[in-house]
Amino acid sequence: MKNIIFYCLLFVTTIGNAQKTYTQTLKLMGSRFDITVVAENETQGNEYIQLAIEEIQRIEKLISSWDPKSNTSKINANAGIKPVKTSPELVGLIERCTKISQITDGAFDITYASMDKIWKFDGSVTEMPSPEKVKASVSKVGYQNIVIDKLNQTVFLKKVGMKIGFGAVGKGYAADVAKKLLMRKGVKAGIINASGDMNTWGIQPNGDFWEVAITNPKDKTKAFGMLPIHNNAVVTSGNYEKFILINGKRYTHIIDPRTGYPAHGLSSVTIFAPKAELADALATSVFVMGKEIGLNRINQIPNVECIIVDDEGNLYKSNNILFNKL
Ligand code: ADP
Ligand code: MG
Repeated sequence: MKNIIFYCLLFVTTIGNAQKTYTQTLKLMGSRFDITVVAENETQGNEYIQLAIEEIQRIEKLISSWDPKSNTSKINANAGIKPVKTSPELVGLIERCTKISQITDGAFDITYASMDKIWKFDGSVTEMPSPEKVKASVSKVGYQNIVIDKLNQTVFLKKVGMKIGFGAVGKGYAADVAKKLLMRKGVKAGIINASGDMNTWGIQPNGDFWEVAITNPKDKTKAFGMLPIHNNAVVTSGNYEKFILINGKRYTHIIDPRTGYPAHGLSSVTIFAPKAELADALATSVFVMGKEIGLNRINQIPNVECIIVDDEGNLYKSNNILFNKL
């Protein structure tokens, strides 16, 4: 969805040491991915892209909640029953997610997945659920009930019916690991673009930085401006794709896990961070926290910046965005 806000300008050029950019677009993790690498020729470019694809598919298998054989599904199936032996990679991801929950006072919470599905985004919900129903829907939500045993590499969800899900960080994490792998293989520059969640490294063959366009979510023909990005991730959470309309009001798919109600007040949150996983998690978090608390939190995290557009189209940015036109 985020390609509404962001798109990347790719300049295929032969300046310099005859390196070019090669891009493939495909569906991974249920989303559109555009993978761009700088390589010497097409064969090499395709080989690199294939490596990234396999890496993203590996992550999909690890974190999928649909595949009953995935590590994540096993943890969910054993909620309230027993700890589940898990790969160090997934233990690490879950642990980092609980840290994000701590610094966002629970605005971000991977146990959101246990919520009763009272907000369905298929057109079937036409009126507000009762306050009692909403309250009851979050009874099993709570990152405090995730027990991580690092020594034994196990994860235990304390309550029966608890579930974890990586809808808010999975694409970011996959983009990080794919980028890391390609950098290790010697790919000098590229972009993993997961539906507008951009993760870049290096520079374009013509020596320019990669750039993202920041446009107004209300009028995408009007760009606020271009921002250069270098070894950085840019992720946006917005309310304009997956939402429900009740009495003309828009309710987004990002839910405040503390109340059970959809987050409101903002139309988009864009986070700049060294890693896409962090950017992804924080974009969802700020969406829930709102502009005051969200900006305040982001201003306290080094190397992380934020641009918020509220429902009225007003723009807010964190302290260190050095871009005058924004
Ligand atoms: P997108 O999926 O459009 O990239 P996000 O990264 O903001 O947007 O993720 C939204 C998804 O995250 C939701 O569809 C849901 O699966 C999950 N989610 C919703 N609310 C929360 C929350 N408060 N904390 C963690 N995950 C959430
Ligand atoms: Mg997110």
